[in-house]
Amino acid sequence: TVKQRFDIEPFLKQLVSEARALPVSGKVADYIPALARVNPEQVGLALATVDGKLYCAGNATVGFSIQSLSKIFGLVMAMNRAGDSLWQRVHMEPSGLPFNSIVQLDYEHGIPRNPFINAGAILIADVLVSHYSASRQALISFIRQLAGCEQIFADDDVFQSERQHGSRNAAMAYLMKSFGNIEADVEKVLAHYFYQCSVNMSCKQLASSLTFLANRGVQPLTEKVVCSRRDAHRVNAILSTSGMYDQSGEFAFTVGLPAKSGVGGGIVAIVPGYGVICAWSPRLNNFGNSCLGMHMITGIAEQLGLSVY
Ligand code: GLU
Repeated sequence: TVKQRFDIEPFLKQLVSEARALPVSGKVADYIPALARVNPEQVGLALATVDGKLYCAGNATVGFSIQSLSKIFGLVMAMNRAGDSLWQRVHMEPSGLPFNSIVQLDYEHGIPRNPFINAGAILIADVLVSHYSASRQALISFIRQLAGCEQIFADDDVFQSERQHGSRNAAMAYLMKSFGNIEADVEKVLAHYFYQCSVNMSCKQLASSLTFLANRGVQPLTEKVVCSRRDAHRVNAILSTSGMYDQSGEFAFTVGLPAKSGVGGGIVAIVPGYGVICAWSPRLNNFGNSCLGMHMITGIAEQLGLSVY
């Protein structure tokens, strides 16, 4: 196909240089000091394909705080563990509101609108805490295995800061608990949630660890079944409607790929049947999405004609 004949790596490098030359816009997340300290000039881009190739440009091997990108790993683990009953406790509707909005909880029943907003991810954390005797260890092992790298760690500075500044997340967790929709001890659930947000990974590690979502649940290099084909489709569907905060509609319109962003400045986009793109740059737009990350992913999707629509 055209995509395979296309010379990818020089193209990614060109996108990174173009992004670096753009006028500065956006600002680094500063709700916790540990994130505000990051060097904002970094720009990374990686593409891992389902035929096992990996292309990198810019700061693609520099680790950063994955933040909400961790919601994908947590969700896949919870789907594997809980099966279909999970969907009685969390919905799959787009939110159209900022990630930490409290309005996205169904006040009648304490059910979050989807697993990618904070309330939903906290619910998923509860499933993991309830199903694993050591959920944090299970999560980091899962990520390490997918990335093929034992060195991946959770940043303790970020973890402690998240805990200290986590009142709103705690409020949502206690509200869900009051409806009986959180089973485990709320503080344990929050600790798991903050831990997964503080995991540190590079573009290269993120792109290669998520290729199973572009390959019907099977990790291409190891041929390991990470989740069922149906669940891979479902995760991609929820990413399409809810992965980019309240810019998800515009992202579907302009890029047309299932994707997730995090306030650390990372964005991963799944190209079913082809591969996974990960872009990173710390300065965020008003929606909380990386300015340069959006720019680069839009460029790749347009140039390669990747929209799934
Ligand atoms: N740790 C962040 C929070 O819950 C995650 C935000 C994000 O990346 O969307 O506030």
